[in-house]
Amino acid sequence: MSRTVYVNGSYLPEEEATVSVFDRGFLFADGVYEVTSVLDGQLIDFDGHAKRLERSLGELDMDSPVSMDELRDIHRELVRRNDLREGGVYLQITRGAADRDFLFPEGAEPTIVLFTQAMNLTNSPKAEKGLKVISIPDIRWGRRDIKTVQLLAPSLGKMEAKKAGCDDAWMIEDGFVTEGTSNNAYIVKGGTIITRDLSNAILHGITRAAVLRFAREAQMKVEERSFTIDEAKDADEAFITSATTFVTPVVEIDGQQIGEGVPGTVAKRLREIYLEESRKLAD
Ligand code: PMP
Repeated sequence: MSRTVYVNGSYLPEEEATVSVFDRGFLFADGVYEVTSVLDGQLIDFDGHAKRLERSLGELDMDSPVSMDELRDIHRELVRRNDLREGGVYLQITRGAADRDFLFPEGAEPTIVLFTQAMNLTNSPKAEKGLKVISIPDIRWGRRDIKTVQLLAPSLGKMEAKKAGCDDAWMIEDGFVTEGTSNNAYIVKGGTIITRDLSNAILHGITRAAVLRFAREAQMKVEERSFTIDEAKDADEAFITSATTFVTPVVEIDGQQIGEGVPGTVAKRLREIYLEESRKLAD
């Protein structure tokens, strides 16, 4: 079934939606994006995603063609028009179309595209079974805190994981885990939740912020610091977070079983808390 997508002010059937071949998103990956999950037809943590989007745009000296309130309305309208109950809304803003030049163009109109993706997020077999991950070198650029559309390194990482019969890859830099290819990485040791501290080395996950808040509210101990892959392999539990995976356990790293090799109790509890609390706040 054809979806209705949003391009530069118009709601169109996906077959009719077009963007210029000169778009800087296409030529330079000069664009940013967000993915907001949808549960029961409602947006999860739109405000968090809108705030990060504004920050990403600001860091790249890029303008948004719409206000954040308008953006929320477009999200809701797309969910409505596509009758989306569960899945995600993908949003991308680029610097727009201009003759190819490394220098930023003057006066180019930013391009904005949104589309929905139906996904089964809550009844995920992967969340039930747990993920197998491999470790790979982090070959990305130095501003991972900006959510740009340059996703070739994570794409290569996921392909490498797939070839190894695994679900995903955790990336390593200077001996420490940065994050998963499209998610933040965590371990649990002696009841303490450990995840890398915020810096330019990782994306500041919106799910991460919510999960850490809920964990602290539930009196769980949280340490924001770097950890090595060896520390991860020796942990009691491991898990990831992202907008579309919520909290998903990791049960194997580089072929080595984590804890008992089954989803851990902390990860399972955090997934439940996250789903319950985010549903309450969804709009
Ligand atoms: N790190 C990376 C590299 C990501 O691509 C993502 C997902 N976009 C995340 C972390 C998780 O971020 P969020 O919780 O905001 O989806």
